[in-house]
Amino acid sequence: MYKYKETAPGRYVLSLDNHVEICEALCAFCKEKGIFAGVVSGIGAVSEAVFRFLDPSTKQYVDKRFEEQMEITNLTGNISCTDDGSRAPYLHIHITAGRRDYTCIGGHLLSARINGACELFVEHFPAAVIGRRFDEQTGLKLYEF
Ligand code: FE
Repeated sequence: MYKYKETAPGRYVLSLDNHVEICEALCAFCKEKGIFAGVVSGIGAVSEAVFRFLDPSTKQYVDKRFEEQMEITNLTGNISCTDDGSRAPYLHIHITAGRRDYTCIGGHLLSARINGACELFVEHFPAAVIGRRFDEQTGLKLYEF
């Protein structure tokens, strides 16, 4: 699903395999390395993606699928731990994607299938496991310190 190199303690460069789904591959990598707190950034190209928008007035998520070739002009996010006791990596990723007409769209990244390449940079914060807790006021799963 991916190849990687550790460039310094806790710092990784990843090259994801073509046609894999980005969140699935990143989750598998975090599980392999036991990463429950960290940051991720990257670039790449995808052929389909689902983005998510949270409407603060309704606290409802609105998801939208895009089926077209797009450049990942930016992918930024963080890695924490699910709050359900399963101790699984929890990804919170935002993405901006460039279309054929050079306009950009973006949102939360729910899923995206690589068509070309995807190069990610992961920094592990090894001294921490950071969890999340649902916040009634915002409707978000916020960091729990
Ligand atoms: Fe967000």
